Amino acid sequence: MKKIIIAGPCSVESKKQIEKISNFLAKKNIKYLRGGCFKPRTDPKSFQGLRELGVELLYNSAKKNNQKTVTEVLSIDQLKNNYDKIDVIQIGSRNMTNFELLKEIGKITKKDKKQILLKRGFSSTISEFLKAGEYIEQFGNKNIWYCLRGIRTFEQIDSDMKFTSDLSSILELKENHKKVLFDPSHSTGNSRYVVDISKAALLLGADGLIIEVHNNPKVARSDKDQQLTFKEFERLLKEITDLCK
Ligand code: PEP
Ligand code: MN
Repeated sequence: MKKIIIAGPCSVESKKQIEKISNFLAKKNIKYLRGGCFKPRTDPKSFQGLRELGVELLYNSAKKNNQKTVTEVLSIDQLKNNYDKIDVIQIGSRNMTNFELLKEIGKITKKDKKQILLKRGFSSTISEFLKAGEYIEQFGNKNIWYCLRGIRTFEQIDSDMKFTSDLSSILELKENHKKVLFDPSHSTGNSRYVVDISKAALLLGADGLIIEVHNNPKVARSDKDQQLTFKEFERLLKEITDLCK
């Protein structure tokens, strides 16, 4: 497979949950396991993630299955304390303009050039997104995947989709020679759109996808409407096979 496919739950919820998902994805030859541990939630009463324990569980499952871990950090302490268990450092949409965090991540990863997954702020322009990447790159780590994850537009006044899929931005980022990932899960907020938006993103030249998959989305502790079931993920893989060659 030439495309980068990252999959896994929105949040790591338990040992059993992440093991089940990791085992399933490994059988499908998925090499990158995502799972939120430090969750940036809009509502402080919502599940905030299993934090350090989550990273531990994600790491253990991933290693058993020869997968790389992808998880978001919200602070430098979180990164430093879990550095060796995180293969791909995710910077979330809400932190794309946290310039001090970007600078520190640039400094810390300067030596080993660890892979960064930088998500576009949902109210940020493309040039602001590129500049955010420059904050990290200036220290020498150019290993950045630029991840589009939907932006907020007037559509959200009455659309069923959580955000507007910024598919055309793939073209602009590719013109700027960036590695581009697309997140069909957060950009739509609804599992029934995920397959079609994934196909569109790959057709437009995205280098990969990051997709939320859960063993039982109905009871997920975050983003339950957008996570794919195992069956739906299998269908997605079938539908994108030709686009991944
Ligand atoms: C996520 O991918 O876990 C996430 C929180 O996404 P975003 O930062 O794009 O909202
Ligand atoms: Mn999510």
